[in-house]
Amino acid sequence: MTTASVDVDTARRDYAALVDRGLSLDITRGKPSPQQLDLADGLLTLPGDGATKAEDGTDVRNYGGLKGLPELRRIFAGPLQVPAEQLLAAGNSSLELMHDAVVQALLSKLPGAERRWADEPTLKFLAPVPGYDRHFALTERFGIELVPVPMTDQGPDMDAVETLVAEDAAVKGIWCVPKYSNPTGVTFSDDVVKRLATMTTAAPDFRIFWDNAYAVHHLTDDEPALADILALATEAGNADRVFVFGSTSKITYAGAGVGFFGASEANLAWWIGNIGKRTIGPDKVNQLRHAHFLKDEDGVRAHMRKHAEIIGPKFEAVDRILTEELSDLASWTKPTGGYFVSLTVPEGTAKEVVRLAKEAGVALTPAGATHPYGDDPADAVIRIAPTFPKLAEVEEAVRALAVCVRLAVAQRG
Ligand code: PMP
Repeated sequence: MTTASVDVDTARRDYAALVDRGLSLDITRGKPSPQQLDLADGLLTLPGDGATKAEDGTDVRNYGGLKGLPELRRIFAGPLQVPAEQLLAAGNSSLELMHDAVVQALLSKLPGAERRWADEPTLKFLAPVPGYDRHFALTERFGIELVPVPMTDQGPDMDAVETLVAEDAAVKGIWCVPKYSNPTGVTFSDDVVKRLATMTTAAPDFRIFWDNAYAVHHLTDDEPALADILALATEAGNADRVFVFGSTSKITYAGAGVGFFGASEANLAWWIGNIGKRTIGPDKVNQLRHAHFLKDEDGVRAHMRKHAEIIGPKFEAVDRILTEELSDLASWTKPTGGYFVSLTVPEGTAKEVVRLAKEAGVALTPAGATHPYGDDPADAVIRIAPTFPKLAEVEEAVRALAVCVRLAVAQRG
């Protein structure tokens, strides 16, 4: 990226013309489009008349079964890289499982812990940046201090991570979106996964929050492999280090899918012991209809290809328009999966770009949202979420965004 100069008068004129158009567009949140949701409408008539039994004879209409239905856990064991017997199918959201994991660790001593997290004088989590704002908000809410570490194109900067976890026993966790990361699209390299699984941590109860939200969300046939962190950690004697999360929110219905939690046997015993006080069991009717609808791992794969056909062109449009409009001023990620593009504009302009876009009727995720406490020190990262709007709207929004970047840079001089 260069910092080419921009003619202020041209930038002002283009921006005034943009405002005159009175747009109303939104590329803020990573939501599936209605067309993507339509793909799963087979769910609406499942499990179907009289289908009340799971494969093991469980009546799904009744209480019980804290681990969830085996047939659904088997389907997601491969994609989430957790043996089916160590994978739980739960409620409708993985974020709530991450929330529960933090709360339970605060209140009940984790396997390997000296004390409950609530009894620790200070708690810290590592936050690879740019990252997912809801992760950061969750830990911020409980007073857990977030320590930013840079994301590279291989995953978190492991030299920084290894030093921080080795030196400070207050560092209890790290947030990771290992595949098609939110918002950079990066998939962690084998070396990064191995180092996370084997590194020395000062805290005996350190946990990797492995949020594999985009495990099967490929946009192309070029699917990067992700190393199996639970297997690597187990092999290294660190089986309890890993909490795996995932969900079908962006496979079937967002907010009406199924969330998953995977971990070592000791962690699962801890989890079930705690969660059994909170619920008598998950919604197994929803789990059964998901198992019938998706059928097996190949069924998931075939379904995700249909998603890629819908959203692939939107990602291509973002890249094409940014290339046409902003090659001289900005850089951006070219993800081959997931839900986001991360745009890096010249330092000190991201907030102004978002403000200008809002004035012109284009809603963008607030600048800084990709960093702990909403503070991007370089004020340079903007997250683009192209899945929800129609293709023509994505194109219009990204062209408008480019006009705003040019003006923000011109004004800065
Ligand atoms: N993790 C990541 C990385 C996400 O991007 C999202 C949705 N934006 C979630 C979790 C939320 O997942 P769920 O719907 O399962 O709570």
